[in-house]
Amino acid sequence: MDLGDLGDLVTPNGPHEQWQDHGLGLLRTILHQNGIVTDLLSTRAVTSWRQLKKQLAGYKMLIMNIRSYTFPPARKAAQIFKEVNPNSLILAGGMHATVALEELKEIAEIDRIVQGAGEEIIVDLVKDPLAFERVTMGVSSKSMADWPMIDRELWPKPHKRLQQNFNWPLEPECGWGPAPVVTMLTSRVCPWQCVFCNENSYIANMRRRPVEMVIDELNYLDRKYGVGSIVIHDSMFFQNPKWLEEWIEKYPRKANKIWPYWAAGRSDTVRQWPEIFTALVKETNWNTISIGLESGSDRILRLLNKECTEEDNDFTIDLINQLGDDFLIAEGKSLMAKDNYHRFPGDEKVKGVDYQFYRELLAGQYDDEVNKGLDGVNYHPDTQSYEDALVKA
Ligand code: SF4
Repeated sequence: MDLGDLGDLVTPNGPHEQWQDHGLGLLRTILHQNGIVTDLLSTRAVTSWRQLKKQLAGYKMLIMNIRSYTFPPARKAAQIFKEVNPNSLILAGGMHATVALEELKEIAEIDRIVQGAGEEIIVDLVKDPLAFERVTMGVSSKSMADWPMIDRELWPKPHKRLQQNFNWPLEPECGWGPAPVVTMLTSRVCPWQCVFCNENSYIANMRRRPVEMVIDELNYLDRKYGVGSIVIHDSMFFQNPKWLEEWIEKYPRKANKIWPYWAAGRSDTVRQWPEIFTALVKETNWNTISIGLESGSDRILRLLNKECTEEDNDFTIDLINQLGDDFLIAEGKSLMAKDNYHRFPGDEKVKGVDYQFYRELLAGQYDDEVNKGLDGVNYHPDTQSYEDALVKA
């Protein structure tokens, strides 16, 4: 079951909720390559639970990759699935099983829970789930080189009204580069430990995908579907200088085209390796850069355990400004700890946030104040145009 808010692949509010789930794609590819053929339903491809319920009859097993922000639809889907198929089995894994095991254990409908990575265990688990304990530790690949190339045609299709601009099985344009967009992972796990993120506490470390494999996959996708730009989904693309140098050397030479791409970095390493950063921007078309600056205050940066300083941030901003005017720096993250990592509407757990204020803000109560001084700008809140929103921001 592909998970997300109801209707995200029918009438989405924006492009990001249409992105495909790489965990689902990888695990489904592994299952199919091992002779276990699955059907795929999606909570995003329906607009009501009734619609989903109609599609569930007759199945013996439900498999879900649950992230914290998809926990509510996952719980609901599990309950409906068991109601329709009382003798079925439900297997659940994903990040939420690792960071909030107790919440998954409380859902009686879920029969087997896998913590950690699933790629080296999923085939055995699906073949014989009852041979496993209710909670089982997953097994991760040692290197991303061991992963098969995702068969992107195993991802859910959007509703037909979205098909023209979606570019399935590639993905829609989101303002960071031309369509069709390829989302791609080249590395797993950022080694830093910012308090609000710290993914290395719940994802096993593994070796980066070899540069040649990344380029081969891009060229294959280009031959088959035509590629417009790339979103490198890595939490931290700008790490491992040896890999980055090989990327600088090979991507411009071996890729069918030097497609522009989005990727993320940190300001301390930009300051540490400015030549590599500059070469990436100039020679590999890294033209949409996300740097998690987080704060301009050393005190706050220390509180966040960011391990970057104001000086690192200033250096990086200056370097990017020198490199050109065509960059968008866009990364915002929230304080995250074990008891406040939920991120879905109505789940107002983050300590210190005045949610009442944000509700009033969204209801337009402060529009006059927010828009003060923008009289000369042609801003129409109803158009939801990206440029207009940027002007307002
Ligand atoms: S916020 Fe960025 S630098 Fe910090 S741990 Fe997460 S991905 Fe790494």
